[in-house]
Amino acid sequence: MQAARVRATVSTVSEGKTAGGDFQVRFWGVRGSIATPGPATARYGGNTSSIEVRCGKRLILLDAGTGMRYLGNILVAEAPLDTDIFFTHTHFDHVCGLPFFKPFFQPQNSFRLWAGHLGAGMTLHRVLREFMMAPLFPVPLGIFAADISFDDFHAGDTLRPHPGITIRTAPLNHPNGATGYRIEYAGKVVAYITDTEHRRDGLDADVLKLIDGADVMIYDASYTDAEYPTHRDWGHSTWEEGVRLANAAGVKTLVIFHHDPGHDDDFMDRVAIDAATARPGTIVAQEGLVLRP
Ligand SMILES: [Zn+2]
Ligand SMILES: [Zn+2]
Repeated sequence: MQAARVRATVSTVSEGKTAGGDFQVRFWGVRGSIATPGPATARYGGNTSSIEVRCGKRLILLDAGTGMRYLGNILVAEAPLDTDIFFTHTHFDHVCGLPFFKPFFQPQNSFRLWAGHLGAGMTLHRVLREFMMAPLFPVPLGIFAADISFDDFHAGDTLRPHPGITIRTAPLNHPNGATGYRIEYAGKVVAYITDTEHRRDGLDADVLKLIDGADVMIYDASYTDAEYPTHRDWGHSTWEEGVRLANAAGVKTLVIFHHDPGHDDDFMDRVAIDAATARPGTIVAQEGLVLRP
């Protein structure tokens, strides 16, 4: 069923590597809901959602959790940057790294920030302005020196941020909404599907469209199926549902992502064994993981 596997390597944050060229994905934060520093989570990592995608010379960032700070510390050397940041949604764990992203303080950089989950009357600019506001935060959004623009779209739109890069989107099943992404570049597909809760009446048709034939499917697998009954309506899914979706859509490599803050490294090791048994080639995301579709 599976074709050639996606190449996967891991290097630590302290090695200071970014994803590099071609079509590559690097994980800077893999944790859901809240950062979980400490020895019990050191191997998989405690930083919240932050992913670097390289499409040739183009740099795309997915979400801006606490992992983004480490990426930013390295990216300052790549200025001037011209970069797109796509948000699944604006829950705190996906935006809290923004104010600590050093490239925002470099005037030679340009960023376009995209979100598709906000309804009428709300904009990404307003959400982030109100997030960086006293007394919740000491400095306002206007503190940034880089040129930053804000693009609101509708989940379901197809985006073409640059020649050769197509990004298809769809709404996910999450409180306050979220957007799933399907990034197509150089004949390959990376799908980023978090945060989302699976449907109880069958596989989610919107998700199936985004992951159809994908080389890499990054999926909100916060829970196991056994844990799920006590987490209904929390807006997250399970690794077993990820396997069902990946099998139905002919995905090459499933990547388990958005780890529950209560799941320590030993727990994730067990998930890794169970998931790879259920679907050989399945990977549990960890900080420093680099995938080359
Ligand atoms: Zn989240
Ligand atoms: Zn969320």
